[in-house]
Amino acid sequence: MSVSHHAVAIIGSGPAGLTAAIYAARANLAPVLFAGYTYGGQLMLTTEVENFPGFPEGIQGPELMEHFRAQAERFGTVIHNVDVTRADFSARPFRLWTEDGEYTADTVIVATGASARWLDVPGEARLRGRGVSTCATCDGAFFREKHIVVVGGGDSAMEEALFLTRFGKQVTIVHRRDAFRASKIMVDRVHAHPSIAVIWNSEVTEIGGEHLTERLHLRNVVTGATSILDADALFVAIGHDPNTALFRGQLELDAAGYIVSADGVTTNIPGVFVAGDVFDIRYKQAITAAGSGCKAALEVEKYLETSGAEHAPALA
Ligand code: NAP
Repeated sequence: MSVSHHAVAIIGSGPAGLTAAIYAARANLAPVLFAGYTYGGQLMLTTEVENFPGFPEGIQGPELMEHFRAQAERFGTVIHNVDVTRADFSARPFRLWTEDGEYTADTVIVATGASARWLDVPGEARLRGRGVSTCATCDGAFFREKHIVVVGGGDSAMEEALFLTRFGKQVTIVHRRDAFRASKIMVDRVHAHPSIAVIWNSEVTEIGGEHLTERLHLRNVVTGATSILDADALFVAIGHDPNTALFRGQLELDAAGYIVSADGVTTNIPGVFVAGDVFDIRYKQAITAAGSGCKAALEVEKYLETSGAEHAPALA
């Protein structure tokens, strides 16, 4: 099997990975980018994106990612729509494997993102982008004067619920226990807010609605009683899982599995850089991910200049 070598390999095809590719390609580094079988990152799961600068009328998430991709390819990024199945950062050049071959690289940018957890209940996948969302910042404004439900009991759920009060006429938090795990200050704010109600000890078992979200089926986990709650939107805020299984034992990860980086760009292995949500538990926005992809590519350039690593555009 042939091995192709690159100065920079990028893993991930969300805003972070593709922005890194645009910058690396324009720096004449001929990057290779592994986009994954489910290409494009979290924005592929949203509909209208209204907060990405440069699109005053808004743009569909998948269309925005097509623009990112076309721009990366325009400057010579080679994109493979495959998953990286194994990585070896223990020696140089670094080695990556996919289903279709082996690659070596002087530098690697890890931009594999974090996946929002979903409830995995009937109706959820069908109504995604039609009232069901994991991002209040992205989708909250579509539900002005509506009844919005948030599921979860952590800081994210509190933050989303408080943010959504700007739009909804009523926000209801459904939580599976009788206490929130969120920080006290956030819990206090939620309890003090006149338009937030809480339904305790309950889980959403099904999401109903023909074309848009219309109702939630609830089950009280203590009594077993079932009920129906009319709702126009459901924001699932039950945490994210960083996509880092591939790097366990090589890159330093925190307890939740996120890559540890003191500056948000470098990792414990010189030459391996990080970008986007795989590191960033705080902001998780397309624009912040894109910004960090830019930073990672600029650091790669600097690293290659100073490390003496051979600038090796893709071998034929
Ligand atoms: P989290 O703290 O892990 O909370 C997840 C919540 O979702 C928990 O309340 C959990 O219930 C619930 N949950 C999990 N799986 C569920 C399921 N299948 N069905 C129903 N409920 C489910 O996650 P997070 O809120 O995203 O926060 C992650 C980290 O980021 C935390 O350290 C948090 O403090 C931090 N954060 C900080 C801020 C801030 O400082 N402004 C904002 C957001 C996040 P249980 O409680 O029963 O386990």
